[in-house]
Order: sequence, then C-alpha cells, then structure tokens
Amino acid sequence: MRICLAKKAGFCMGVKRAVDLVFKTARQRKNRPVFTLGPIIHNPQVLHLLEKQGVKIIEDPEQAPPGSIVVIRAHGVSLEIKNRLTQKKVVVIDATCPRVLKVQQLIKQYYQKGYQPIIVGEREHPEVKGLCSYAQNQAWSVGSEEEIKSLPQAQKVLVVAQTTQNERLFKKIAELIKKRYLEVKVFNTVCNSTHERQEEVRKMAKKVEALVVVGGKMSGNTRRLAQIGSEAGLKTYHIETEDE
Ligand code: SF4
Repeated sequence: MRICLAKKAGFCMGVKRAVDLVFKTARQRKNRPVFTLGPIIHNPQVLHLLEKQGVKIIEDPEQAPPGSIVVIRAHGVSLEIKNRLTQKKVVVIDATCPRVLKVQQLIKQYYQKGYQPIIVGEREHPEVKGLCSYAQNQAWSVGSEEEIKSLPQAQKVLVVAQTTQNERLFKKIAELIKKRYLEVKVFNTVCNSTHERQEEVRKMAKKVEALVVVGGKMSGNTRRLAQIGSEAGLKTYHIETEDE
C-alpha cells in the first residue's frame, strides 16, 4: 500500500507552543502544583505524558489553590475567567495562541466602535466563549448558513471566524451576512495553519483512495479535517492511536 503523509501533519504552532510551555513550567515549578485550565490539547497521549510530570487538569479556577500555577490553553479564556484567576492569587501562565489574541482584540476594538460582532464558529467551544467576552458577552455566534435568517437586526456588524473554522463555510456565511446588513466588516480570521491543512486535505483527496486523520476525537481541528475528507467522497478514518 502506498502511504502519502501530509506535509502539514503535526501540531499547529499555537498548540505546540502551549504544550512546550506546560512541560517547561512543570520542570521549573519549584514544588508548586501545576494545573491546566481544561486539557491543554485534545490528545490523550500527550495528556498522559503531562500527567506523569504531575500536571493536573482543572475545569474551574475555583479548584486552584492560592500559590499554584495555572496554565491557560491555546484557545484562550473569557475575561471573566481571567479575573477569577487573578482573584485566586495563582500564578497564571497564559498560553493563549497569539492568533487567538489578535481576534480577541479585533472584537474588542470593533465592539467599542459600535459594531455588533458575529463569530462564525461553535457556540459552546471555549475559544468562541472567550471571544464573546471581548464584546461583553454580546457577540452572536453562527455555525451554519440556516442560522443567518434568525439573526436580529443591527446597524453595522463585524464578522470573524473561530480560528479553526472550515474556511469555505466561513466565506459562504460571510457572503450571506453581507446581503443581510448595511455595513459589514469581514475579517477572515481562520488561522493559517488551519487553512493550509484544510487545503492540503482537499488536494490530497484527488490523489488518494482513503484518508486517515490522526488526532484527538474532541479536537475541532481534526474533526473538521475528517469532515472535509468525507465531503470529498473519501473513505475517511479519524483515529487517535496506533491500535485503532
Ligand atoms: S490559532 Fe491556529 S496556530 Fe493558534 S492554536 Fe488555533 S489553530 Fe493553532
């Protein structure tokens, strides 16, 4: 069997940076407990390695004892959670990806100028929840073309994407939003790593008979790659481990 390995296979810059930061923090902890706020990566194998280094996962700032170290993961958190961490008097290591930070600032800036932010993404995804907080939790999120019809009216709107969004879907939704509102500012904030991976899967789909996407089942990024493979008519397998 011939196997083609995608050139862009592997962790994206933001996740690699966050994982490296946790390992570095674990090495330099000086007996302080180290926690990540939620799993640092949707990859059970890496999480297992971190667990061996004594890094624990918490789901709420309340669970972190004062003086401990808490790492914020690559897709960032809401302003409310940041404030709660500050109140808990813990050491915060912010591993929010610089590309997510940019989208947060974009939303903040345009919301202050009176734009209604619309985020094309998964409403319940932590990145999207974090982004909403930069518009005082007043941003709208949409995940499909159908949802556009039920959006309320607004004078001027800002459209951005969850960084791991399906780029083609984002563009379709942005076009529909342009038809619905008078003043629309669109920023394609789909991350470059996401863009390159999705395009590579589309290109490879023309040359191969089957696609194996290796990555966490909870990862939006890998789930979307598998979805693109299936949509292209490929027999697609989304697996996490060698055994599968
Ligand atoms: S914004 Fe891009 S590089 Fe950053 S964590 Fe998300 S996918 Fe990775």
